[in-house]
Amino acid sequence: MNEQAIKKMLGEVLRCVVEEVARQSRGACPAQNAEGDGPIPVELSARHVHLSEKDAIALFGAPLTHARDLSQPGQFLCNERVRIVGPKGVMDNVAILGPSRGHSQVEISKTDARVLGIDAPVRQSGDIAGTPGIILSSKTETIGLTEGVIVASRHIHMTPEDAARFGVSDGELVDVSLNSDRPVVLCDTLVRVSPKFSLAMHIDADEGNASGWNKKVAGTIVARKGK
Ligand SMILES: [Zn+2]
Repeated sequence: MNEQAIKKMLGEVLRCVVEEVARQSRGACPAQNAEGDGPIPVELSARHVHLSEKDAIALFGAPLTHARDLSQPGQFLCNERVRIVGPKGVMDNVAILGPSRGHSQVEISKTDARVLGIDAPVRQSGDIAGTPGIILSSKTETIGLTEGVIVASRHIHMTPEDAARFGVSDGELVDVSLNSDRPVVLCDTLVRVSPKFSLAMHIDADEGNASGWNKKVAGTIVARKGK
């Protein structure tokens, strides 16, 4: 190869590199480049139940009791456990999270929904209007919920300071890349901002298994979708 051919090839390679760098900087999202942004801890929410005080008393004869704190301030795992019963299957020893809420809610994965025989929709926590019901049992009592079974939509809890750091706002949807052994990008993850929150992304068991989740896995916001 003569000198001219080598120079031409080098010029071509250089042009490709420059174009690629320009392409990447155009495609990169502002949040990714924001100063001070960093990894988001990812926590797996196993199936669980939230109970109204009325339903807790109906099942256990007393209000819920605290077993251990969860990562979100004020939220806790209860000592009480419940059996959930669907038309096709039963799941025992399901965790209850406190404190009590205005309405009872059962959060399961799509896999659980199949086992139970309940067509649970993907919803944000609290958005239970028109969702399917389920039967709940303690050791001694059984109650029926007329609605409240959901597959919780993935979301990120963050403080207003975190939101400023990531350049995002409450209610916004973002795509989040997980740095696991089976890396995935989880699209349309809802950002929830409150001074009462602590920074954590919540995924369900199906999303955790699909992405090879473990406690060390962290997420990075790779795209913003707006509200
Ligand atoms: Zn959450």
